[in-house]
Amino acid sequence: MLKSLRTENAVLYTIKFLLKIAFGYTVSPTLESLSEDNVIIQVEGIKIKFKLCSQDKLVNLIDGKAHMKYIPSYDDDYTIPVIDENINDLYEYSNGYIQINYDIITLSFVLLSCYDEWTSEIRDEFDRFRYTDSLVYKYNLINIPVVDEYAFLIRKILKNEVQSFTPSVRSTILVPTHDIDDLYRFDGFFTSIKTLVGEAIREKRPLQLCSSILNMLKTIFSKKEDQYLKGIEQLYKDSKKYDLKSVFFFMTAKPSQFDKGQDIDNNVLALMSKITDADMLFGIHPGFNTFRDVTIMNDEIERLRNTSGRDIVFARQHYLRFDRRVTFENLEKCGVKVDYTMGFAEHEGFKCGTAHEFYPYNFKKDQPYNILEKPLIVMDATLRHYQKYSMNKAFEVLENLFKITKRVEGDFVILWHNDRIFRDPKWYQEVYIRFISQYNTKQ
Ligand SMILES: [Zn+2]
Repeated sequence: MLKSLRTENAVLYTIKFLLKIAFGYTVSPTLESLSEDNVIIQVEGIKIKFKLCSQDKLVNLIDGKAHMKYIPSYDDDYTIPVIDENINDLYEYSNGYIQINYDIITLSFVLLSCYDEWTSEIRDEFDRFRYTDSLVYKYNLINIPVVDEYAFLIRKILKNEVQSFTPSVRSTILVPTHDIDDLYRFDGFFTSIKTLVGEAIREKRPLQLCSSILNMLKTIFSKKEDQYLKGIEQLYKDSKKYDLKSVFFFMTAKPSQFDKGQDIDNNVLALMSKITDADMLFGIHPGFNTFRDVTIMNDEIERLRNTSGRDIVFARQHYLRFDRRVTFENLEKCGVKVDYTMGFAEHEGFKCGTAHEFYPYNFKKDQPYNILEKPLIVMDATLRHYQKYSMNKAFEVLENLFKITKRVEGDFVILWHNDRIFRDPKWYQEVYIRFISQYNTKQ
């Protein structure tokens, strides 16, 4: 497995990604040579030699034991970690080529490819790779999109040394996304009674219970009055108000312990039409049991395709359940083109070292998958339940992550669930709406 980190394809894939961010557009570098300790490429008439760390350091790196050194970021505002080398200068320019003295390739590839997740056998209670088992945790990188930072070091070097170099500056886009785990709060007599009893035990607030009973009675006459369904409409309206293009993920999983199994009916179809008419997107939220089962996944996607009459190309896994060795391949087989799952449930931040979309790497084929990943940076439940932040702290965290994303020209993908609007109205207003109302314009 170790060898797969330094193949010609893997190295060139990483360099292409770094250069795309550095230039601000796609470029086609050509490989001149690749050896144990360096790689030389040509791009747009510029020759760059990237140093690669030794095999010993590579082994330490993936074991989480590498010694990191902190060097100034491209704007000198921060320091960023690199694999330690006994050198002083980031780069040198001689004999007509630029030589970058630190290895910025290997760690970038390790993070983009989620190598740790591919090789690890340890999982949490939902069979997910845990933040605390990741290299991002071990090297304290969750708040540093380190791959993007490396790309910006390249941009800085090119600006210094190549007169004709004019990078294209990219605007950061805020991308609200919404997993619709629950279409309806009250869906049929028995589930409604279960919901009410659950609420009575949990909340112990008689007034709220009365209002819930009233709401349930209302939904008997008109399902459109259901609070969770209204939540979807609210998210759509608020995105429209702030000129944002939300992505909604609908479920078609059959009922199970972790899947509601509610039907896409005419009310939901009407909402889907509104969503697409407003140039927003919707896709599939594959159920709890899909991540290793391509048959179940395909059935669910087929169902959404048939019900909605539209092609289904966007996806995010329910519970963010993902098996790095098979899920991308399964999504690919089911016709999905863009995935939004790569984020940790327990911690906000930059799981793959980047806030830019990228093609994840298939180690089996030694080439990228045909599926674009838009990394998830923050989810409502992470702030509220895993991190247990106060509302003010959650807002601060969002602001800080947005600023970090903006300085590397990435995209800010945030996840807010429709049921949370009813269940946590204060959080919706004072964290989510406060945030999207301030950071909605293309920055
Ligand atoms: Zn979900």
